[in-house]
Amino acid sequence: MSEREISCSFCGRKKSEVNILIAGITGHICDSCISQANGIVVEDLAEKSNSQVKANLTLQKPKEIKGFLDEYVIGQNDAKRVLSVAVYNHYKRLLQPSFEEDEVEIEKSNIVLVGETGTGKTLLAKTIAKMLNVPFCIADATILTEAGYVGEDVESVLSRLLQAADFDVSAAERGIVFIDEIDKIARKSDNASITRDVSGEGVQQALLKLLEGSTVNVPPQGGRKHPEQKMISVETKNILFICGGAFDGIQQHIKRRVKTNPIGYSNDGTENITDETNLLSYVSPLDLKTFGLIPELIGRFPVLSHLDPLTGDVLKRILTEPKNSLMKQYVKLFEMDDVKLSFDKEVLDFIVDKALDYKLGARGLRSICEAIMTDAMFDLPSEEEIKDFKITLAYAEEKFSNSKLNKLRAA
Ligand code: ADP
Repeated sequence: MSEREISCSFCGRKKSEVNILIAGITGHICDSCISQANGIVVEDLAEKSNSQVKANLTLQKPKEIKGFLDEYVIGQNDAKRVLSVAVYNHYKRLLQPSFEEDEVEIEKSNIVLVGETGTGKTLLAKTIAKMLNVPFCIADATILTEAGYVGEDVESVLSRLLQAADFDVSAAERGIVFIDEIDKIARKSDNASITRDVSGEGVQQALLKLLEGSTVNVPPQGGRKHPEQKMISVETKNILFICGGAFDGIQQHIKRRVKTNPIGYSNDGTENITDETNLLSYVSPLDLKTFGLIPELIGRFPVLSHLDPLTGDVLKRILTEPKNSLMKQYVKLFEMDDVKLSFDKEVLDFIVDKALDYKLGARGLRSICEAIMTDAMFDLPSEEEIKDFKITLAYAEEKFSNSKLNKLRAA
């Protein structure tokens, strides 16, 4: 065959009529057929991945979801129940056949979790994502600003989700975003300020765009450092947003709202709802508004729940009970060096007392444990004759008192 006669085996166009003609073993393909075929492949794969996602989403019942959360998160029953139902409904919505006119469209159930820092808000969101096997990312509301100001645009939240999804857009579009410290973008005062509130209301307004289910152009690398990067379109309709915040001082608003109910027992002997020790459990959307979140934003978060403060008992359970509890992790680490590690019961009380003492919450348990365990983790791997190692109270006290943590406290 002479070169002049070569043509595309797919569309039949001659070499002179196309830009590029690539030779295969028995035929040729031109650039326009390649790009057309590529379009078909991309579309087909996206469809397959969509049905794959749907197939993977075997809908777990709320009780099963809560059961899974119980394996990793101690206490926080109210939040777990509310979250389980919200996630169940969210995924029911995803599995709903495409919307037809006369059908009831299930709305998204974005969630706000109110609770002191270190009580498990992030852990709950993370555990849900783990269970559903969907991309998950954490964003901090405090670094977000309105477009045009120093800081990150709200779209950067989705850049993170894309990164977590390895840039699989359709997976990211079904992911979960946890926005931490949402309380920090509350409007500072009730009257709309004359000066622009860059870090507060403006960010809330900007966030609305993500929450209300729109197509957002996302810089894949995030930030504005790469102005040349090509934007990726992400549809936020099916992304579940979970926000967390400590909302320091919201108790005052709640108290004012419920103060009409006298504390104690009402006439008919039923317990009155006002338990002053855990006012957060009565939190309502109204309190979020008084705190400084704009009504439009609150409206996008139909599900609201609270987390209880962690008591000593709960801290102790956190040390030992979760599937990947700290104690289980240390035992596992030592097991890898063929050492059987055990703890005296009093050691757990000691660690909890210190965590309460230092007001570090559950987050502090880790640093206290590290202070106690570091020497053993340093020495034991080189002492092969030691096969059993018991952490006694005296050992824990000694290691802790020599630790930086203790010195910091003394300073
Ligand atoms: P928050 O988001 O409320 O500030 P986190 O979820 O980040 O707190 O909690 C910090 C760490 O403390 C978690 O990684 C986890 O190890 C531990 N933790 C906190 N609350 C709980 C809980 N209820 N059950 C188990 N672990 C917890």
